[in-house]
Amino acid sequence: MLKVVFHEAYMARYPTGAVETPARVRSIMGNLQGCYEVVVPRPASKEDLLRAHTPDHLTQVQLEGKAVWEAAVLAAGGALCAARLTAQSRQPVFAAVRPPGHHAGRNRYGGFCFFNNMAVSLLALLHDGTVKRAAVIDFDMHRGDGTAEIFNGDSRCLFLDVSSAEKECFVQNIAGFLDALPLVDIIGISAGFDMHLKDWGGCLSNSDYHHIGRLLGETARRKAFGRVFAVLEGGYMPHELGKAVYAFCRGLEGKELIDVTPMTRP
Ligand SMILES: [Zn+2]
Repeated sequence: MLKVVFHEAYMARYPTGAVETPARVRSIMGNLQGCYEVVVPRPASKEDLLRAHTPDHLTQVQLEGKAVWEAAVLAAGGALCAARLTAQSRQPVFAAVRPPGHHAGRNRYGGFCFFNNMAVSLLALLHDGTVKRAAVIDFDMHRGDGTAEIFNGDSRCLFLDVSSAEKECFVQNIAGFLDALPLVDIIGISAGFDMHLKDWGGCLSNSDYHHIGRLLGETARRKAFGRVFAVLEGGYMPHELGKAVYAFCRGLEGKELIDVTPMTRP
């Protein structure tokens, strides 16, 4: 059974780009809450952050102010919580975190990202020996340049960035990579939904996201001991985001897409 990692503080306001709003995760939880067990994460430790970033980078994020710092360490902690959960349970996990992370490099940040949530989580599991080999698939519309930089030259982690694919072959590109993927211990997914038909990319339907989830879930069961976790990256149309994430989660756990109607909220 899929689990969702979420903290109320992901709905906090902090200084960032105008489109990176609390409404994004509110929409997601409006669709997922009640369907899945929710696990509340803790902030990442400095030790965790320093495996992916330089001390100077941490200082720079601290200078952005308390609100940004607290949000950023809690998002990194959410990704780490998701990675640990799936490592133990071998069930898929979705981390509905803000801020996103895939543009954050070792010593730089931008694009609404402060810490590289995916890199912090996988480097912790690689460090303590929970996993020896990992794969990251990034299907956000934008290049996961921070993740690419951090894992550059690290043979323990295979990285596929789908953003370079032509719109028409986006899904085929993921399928091809997954076919060729060797056995790994865990699959991390940088799940950005800004390629959605009604988002900036104007390309993928909810049914496409369901299909992508299904491909990744099947591959994880076949090649990664069922260990797969997804961490929210982009997706900026709150009205559509929750439905797209729900469709993706249904696919990830190998279930049909039966209903993408948002649940009634009190
Ligand atoms: Zn993006």
